[in-house]
Amino acid sequence: MASTTSDKATPQRRAELLQNLAETKICFAEASKSLSHAPTLVAVSKTKPAWMTRACYEEGQRDFGENSDIDLVNKAKKLADLDNLRWHFIGVMKKTEGDDLRRQARMRELTTVSNLHAIQSLTSTEDADIYNNAIPADRKAPLNMLLQVNTSGEVQKSGLQYVDTETEAADSPLFKLACHIIEHCPKLHFQGLMTIGSQTESLASSERPNQDFETLKKTRDVLEGMLRSNPTFDGRWGDNGKLLLSMGMTADFEAGLRAGSHIVRVGTGIFGARRMK
Ligand SMILES: *Cc1c(COP(=O)(O)O)cnc(C)c1O
Repeated sequence: MASTTSDKATPQRRAELLQNLAETKICFAEASKSLSHAPTLVAVSKTKPAWMTRACYEEGQRDFGENSDIDLVNKAKKLADLDNLRWHFIGVMKKTEGDDLRRQARMRELTTVSNLHAIQSLTSTEDADIYNNAIPADRKAPLNMLLQVNTSGEVQKSGLQYVDTETEAADSPLFKLACHIIEHCPKLHFQGLMTIGSQTESLASSERPNQDFETLKKTRDVLEGMLRSNPTFDGRWGDNGKLLLSMGMTADFEAGLRAGSHIVRVGTGIFGARRMK
């Protein structure tokens, strides 16, 4: 699986890609068996050429993830003829000093992608407002938002602090952001939580429950309880009264699914290794 030759559009590379996709789908189906919901496989096409996304689409794959807003916008243009394709933005737009206007322009540009289905990496009310105000009037459905949670506590990872109890959550940036979207961002829909998790937990996933996934589930339970207790929020968050969990990547997507994930994000396992930038 997943060798790292070149990404040129050769028949051999195409066959290898589709083989990887097929194998991933088999593992995905197997690990999903005991779930009462139908999870989503997001194929993370980041750094890979658009022909690969098209090839996967032709095999029936519909959800694709990018961590660069610029690449997402460019690929969405190249692949605009593919009906019902859904883009997921999973990246962080770093704030660099003096570059605020440029960053906001990029965020606005991202919202012009009509088949952008979700942003899985939101962490601030400022960004929620920028997206909410930018969404074009002709967009059909609200843009789904997943809040990124830093479950491992690693400083290099983006994401909001997880919560353990309702008391702790009441004052947390996570709960405040969730409420802010529900109350003040009519063009956004607060759909769930996303995490990346530590490599250590990922490597141990076959032996014991992944603690980062357990932390995300606990956070979800606390948040759901709080949102449910507010009747004015009824039907204004989640999917059928449940917050979605996006957890699991190439190394641990099966563990993620067994832990009850709704969305897994697989890059390397489908597209092959990425060149270092
Ligand atoms: C790159 C990336 C993935 C996919 O990672 P792989 O290990 O290649 O499957 C998933 N989620 C996020 C947020 C990413 O940036």
